[in-house]
Amino acid sequence: MIADLHTHTTASDGHLDPHELLAGAHAAGVQLLAITDHDTLAGYAELDRDLAPDCRIVPGIELSTTWRKIAIHVVGLNIDLKNPALLAGVASQSSARHERAQLIAMRLEKLGFRDVLSGAAQLAGSAGISRPHFARHLVESGQVRSMQDAFRKYLGPGKAGDIRETWAPLDDVISWIKDAGGVAVLAHPAKYKLTNLKLEELTQDFRRAGGDALEVISGLQDINLTNRLGRLALRHGLQASCGSDFHQPGQSWARLGAVAALPRDCVPVWEAW
Ligand code: AMP
Ligand code: MN
Ligand code: MN
Ligand code: MN
Repeated sequence: MIADLHTHTTASDGHLDPHELLAGAHAAGVQLLAITDHDTLAGYAELDRDLAPDCRIVPGIELSTTWRKIAIHVVGLNIDLKNPALLAGVASQSSARHERAQLIAMRLEKLGFRDVLSGAAQLAGSAGISRPHFARHLVESGQVRSMQDAFRKYLGPGKAGDIRETWAPLDDVISWIKDAGGVAVLAHPAKYKLTNLKLEELTQDFRRAGGDALEVISGLQDINLTNRLGRLALRHGLQASCGSDFHQPGQSWARLGAVAALPRDCVPVWEAW
């Protein structure tokens, strides 16, 4: 089973529109696909599912949340796209993102950068503005050398454009997903650079708040990490999910459908679907 349950489109910070993504997933032989754009369901509005008849599409989202002042991502899978609690939550995240964008722009303009908000907004189009849009604007307007530099110096953890505590708390985002009948997945647990103890505590809090699964595989990753996360999931009685976290073609570490098999004792999230 080729399952890719974490992907992005132009509805958030991805480079392909939903139909291009679907075509790519089809070409990669993906059988089970979730589009999980950041804090939005907009990608599903424009999706013609008949375009990929061999690929089952599971409605999804990647919600931003704040846990102990750390930005954490929770993926919701198999959600009811019309659920009122989820829609209200998404609407509040969307205004939070809008307000955050203005704060980020203000801070970056204080550092001397030009046209920050208008440049990022133009790249975002109808999507909510996210940090990669700011980074791309800085690079494409010749104000910063590379995306990496933009994150390392200005947008990454602890930098001027890193605005904290904008997002709803962990309990809230999990409850929206559960209310919508979905499965709540703690996304890419290794990307937060937490100590072992903190990761245990996050996983425990996630479980206590009603979380269901751990993203045991995120893109191309070391087999030792996969096994470690598989054990973490088992220890906490969580199911396992997997996804590429695909944003754009050309990134070897996050290729559409390039997702290894889950460790054998893990219970895949799709088992009950
Ligand atoms: P935001 O939702 O605005 O907080 O933006 C988060 C997104 O920024 C992530 O989903 C990644 O796609 C992207 N991102 C985070 N860190 C980096 C980085 N160091 N380099 C490039 N993109 C990054
Ligand atoms: Mn992203
Ligand atoms: Mn994420
Ligand atoms: Mn993602």
